[in-house]
Amino acid sequence: MSLQTTAVPNFTSTRNACKLCSPLGACLVLRGIEGCIPLIHGSQGCSTYIRRYGISHFREPIDIASSNFVESTAIFGGKDNLFTALDNVSRSYKPAAIGVTSTCLSETIGEDVPMYLRQYEIDRAKGLRNNGGQNPAIFYASTPSYRGTHMDGFHEAVFAAVSKLVDGEKITRTESKGRINLVSGFISAEDLRELQTILGSFTTDYTLLPDYSESLDGPSWETYQKLPQGGTKPEDIKKMGEAAGTVYFGIAPGHDAGKWLEETWGVPLFRQDLPIGIENCDPFYKTLSKLSGKEIPEIWNRQRGRLIDAYIDGHKYVNSKRAIIYGEEDFVASLASFLDEIGIVPVIAATGADSQGFKKRIQGVLRNTRQEVQIADDADFVTILEMAKDLRPDFIMGHSKGLFLSRELGIPLVRCGFPIHDRIGGQRILHLGYKGTLNLFDLVCNAIMEAKQDQHDKGYTYI
Ligand code: SF4
Repeated sequence: MSLQTTAVPNFTSTRNACKLCSPLGACLVLRGIEGCIPLIHGSQGCSTYIRRYGISHFREPIDIASSNFVESTAIFGGKDNLFTALDNVSRSYKPAAIGVTSTCLSETIGEDVPMYLRQYEIDRAKGLRNNGGQNPAIFYASTPSYRGTHMDGFHEAVFAAVSKLVDGEKITRTESKGRINLVSGFISAEDLRELQTILGSFTTDYTLLPDYSESLDGPSWETYQKLPQGGTKPEDIKKMGEAAGTVYFGIAPGHDAGKWLEETWGVPLFRQDLPIGIENCDPFYKTLSKLSGKEIPEIWNRQRGRLIDAYIDGHKYVNSKRAIIYGEEDFVASLASFLDEIGIVPVIAATGADSQGFKKRIQGVLRNTRQEVQIADDADFVTILEMAKDLRPDFIMGHSKGLFLSRELGIPLVRCGFPIHDRIGGQRILHLGYKGTLNLFDLVCNAIMEAKQDQHDKGYTYI
C-alpha cells in the first residue's frame, strides 16, 4: 500500500472493502454484448451476489448463469457441471454468445477452463451435446477475485470478447473509412447514451464496447425477456480489426484488448483517462475528429463554452474546498483531474485496487494541488476514515458505499460511479463529456451550498 502516512497498520484484514468482485466487472461487459449471457464457473452464491449488486443499481433483472459448484465439485473439479451449464444455457436462452468467467473457488482448485471449453466445442461439433442444436460463440475470462477487482474482470472480459470475435482480413489503415472503436470503461448507462450521441455526431461507423445502455436500462416490458434487447452487436465487434483507431478509456492491468488490436491487427491505440473535466474531454473530442476525418461538430464547442461559463459562475463556491475521492482507479484518476481543474483539493484519492502505479498516476493528473493530496491504493473505508480525520474535508465524492464516511465525518456525499444502492437513478447519472462534467460540477456546487445552508439555524435563501 502506498500511503503518504507513517501509521503502521496493526491488522491484516480488509475492513469495509473499497473494491468489488472481479467477475462482477466481467458480467457487466457480457451483459453489454447483444445476445450474450454470462456463465459463472463456481458456486451459486457468486452469481447471486453479482446479480444483487447489479439489480440494486440498474433496477433491472439481470440473468447470470452458474455452473453451481457443490462440495464434490470443489474436490473433483467442475468440468461436468460446466458442460451441463453450457448445454442448459444454450437450450433455454438460445444466446448468440456465452461468456464464461471463473471465480475464486474454481481458480483456487486450478480448473483448466480453456481446455474444458476446447473439449466442449469438439463434442458440440460432433453432435454429442444436449444443446438443442444451438452453437453460440463461447469465450472465457479468467477472473480470480483474490487477485484483482471488478476492473480487472471488466478489462479481461473485453479482451476475451474481442480476441474471440474479431475476424476478417487485415487491411491498410487508409481502407478503414474512419471506423472508430471505443472501449468505454465501467460507466453509467447514461454515459453510454452520451457516448453514442458524441460518436454519432461525427457521422462515422463505430463499435462501442460494451454497451449496456439498453440491456441494463431499457423501457418496461409487457412480458419477461430472457435476453433483453440492446448491447454491442457481435458483428460490430468482428469489425474492430478494420478500425482507424481504438480509443480506450483507462488502463487494463492484465490482458489489454486495445494493445491486442494494435499488435495483431495494426489498429492504432489512443488510450486516455475517462473524459471528465476539460483536461480529459478535449483530447477525446480531438481524437474522434482525427480518426473520423471530420471537424468537431459545433454542438460540442458550444457545450464546452457552457461548461466554462458554469466554472466561472460556480468558482466562488468551490474554490479551495477539500474533497475525499475513492473508487476504481480509472474513475478516481479522472475525478482527481476534474476537481484539481476547478480549484478543489482532493485531499484523499484512494482506490481498493492493489496498484503500484496509482500514486504516480494521480500525481501526474494534479496540476495545482499535488503537495496536499494523500494517495492510497489497496485501501479500505476504515483506512480512508483514519486518514481523513485531520484533513478537514468538505465533502466526499464516490459511490454509495461511502455513506459510512459521510456519517462519521458529518460531511455530504456526492454520489457518482458504481454502485449507487441507496438512491434511485444511479444508472442515469451522467459523468462523461462536456455535458457530464457540467452535471458533476452542478452536483458538487449544490452539495457544498446545501451543507452551508444546513450549518446555519436560519439558513440562507440566497447564497
Ligand atoms: S469475491 Fe470470489 S467468492 Fe466472492 S463473489 Fe466474487 S468470485 Fe465469488
